[in-house]
Amino acid sequence: MKRELTCIACPLGCSLTVTLEGKNILSVVGNTCPRGKEYAINECTAPKRMVTTTIRCENGELVSVKTSQPIPKEKVFEAMEIINSTIAKLPLTIGDVIIPDLFGSSVVATQCKE
Ligand code: SF4
Repeated sequence: MKRELTCIACPLGCSLTVTLEGKNILSVVGNTCPRGKEYAINECTAPKRMVTTTIRCENGELVSVKTSQPIPKEKVFEAMEIINSTIAKLPLTIGDVIIPDLFGSSVVATQCKE
């Protein structure tokens, strides 16, 4: 079986073709650098995603946030439920940790709020 992917590890966006036999990866072609192969293997075996969204602050405003690391793709919905039930304390600066542990990542502010 062949699977076509677009590498998202850098803006070049190389087109990758992964050849699989069951869950075994036989080959990865189309990558310009080793990161593409690593991305393709991870995407086919344990896909992960960065989450970028907003969290409600204690004053009712929204602050933009992101996970500091990609989290397992199958946990994104559960992660959003936790994020949506969180109220961030103010003040916040970029990089402040709002949720310290979320499926192996943390959730950090990506904007300042007074
Ligand atoms: S394979 Fe390498 S050069 Fe191509 S998009 Fe991925 S990271 Fe960028």
